[in-house]
Amino acid sequence: MAISKLRNDGDCMDYLVIGMAYGKFRLVAISGKDTVNKARQKHNLSHTASAALGRALLGASLLASSFKSDTERILLQFRGDGPLSPILALADNGVHVRGYCENPEAELPLNKLGKLDVGGGVGAGMLYIIREKDGSEPYRGTVPIQTGEIGDDIAYYLHSSEQIPSAVGLGVLVDGNGSVRSAGGLLVQVMPGATDEDISVVEESLTKLGSISHRFDQGETPESLLDTLFPQWIELERRPVSFKCDCSKDRFARGLVSLGHDELTDLIEKGETVETVCRFCNEKYLFTLPEMEKLLKQAEE
Ligand SMILES: [Zn+2]
Repeated sequence: MAISKLRNDGDCMDYLVIGMAYGKFRLVAISGKDTVNKARQKHNLSHTASAALGRALLGASLLASSFKSDTERILLQFRGDGPLSPILALADNGVHVRGYCENPEAELPLNKLGKLDVGGGVGAGMLYIIREKDGSEPYRGTVPIQTGEIGDDIAYYLHSSEQIPSAVGLGVLVDGNGSVRSAGGLLVQVMPGATDEDISVVEESLTKLGSISHRFDQGETPESLLDTLFPQWIELERRPVSFKCDCSKDRFARGLVSLGHDELTDLIEKGETVETVCRFCNEKYLFTLPEMEKLLKQAEE
């Protein structure tokens, strides 16, 4: 399926824009309010968890923007010692994202800057990144978590593991009632040919940018964000973004069958409906006793 033909799912209005500036910088900007809100509703996320998982989902989307085929996907796994870790975010080139964090309801006091303490929620540890493509060996990268603020950590990964100097900005603004007011992100990658002077000009504009989530709250769009930074950027492509999981009852049924005869018999002997839950989207799939008995027969074949 051509990516340009992809449509957003339901009422999700999020998208990312891929562009280029002066042939020296690859740009990706994303809006993500509906996507992060969906994650919040699915997982009943606390304010800090919405910001942390939201940034991870948007970060995974920014990285997935480089994918060319439907079979590629990227998994970010933040394994820190904070109460929200591990945090997992997975994105394909659609761009469909899904993910979860441990203790989704954990709340932390605001940090010294009066902001949601994403860094404290993630904690110190490692960031694992896996790029998967059907039919080839997955690429794996591991870097120490720098600040746990997610954007910094992804930029560090890109620089140290993929040797692409990059700036990553990610922001999620959460309302007092817990709903996501705005969410957005930006990735700027330095291409070969950019001089030190080019880079310092861009760095200066990035510093002046301020809070990305506040900019999106005030009506910023991915295009207007790039207009601000690079007056003469060129749009190459855009893709819709949404929170969407590829789980299904069939897939969980296959998982149950793979447990084998003994474990299935144990579950059936309890005499209760079996409930399975997808970690990535929190969707529940129920298996009644007659359904379980059918699965047991399949396991015996
Ligand atoms: Zn799912």
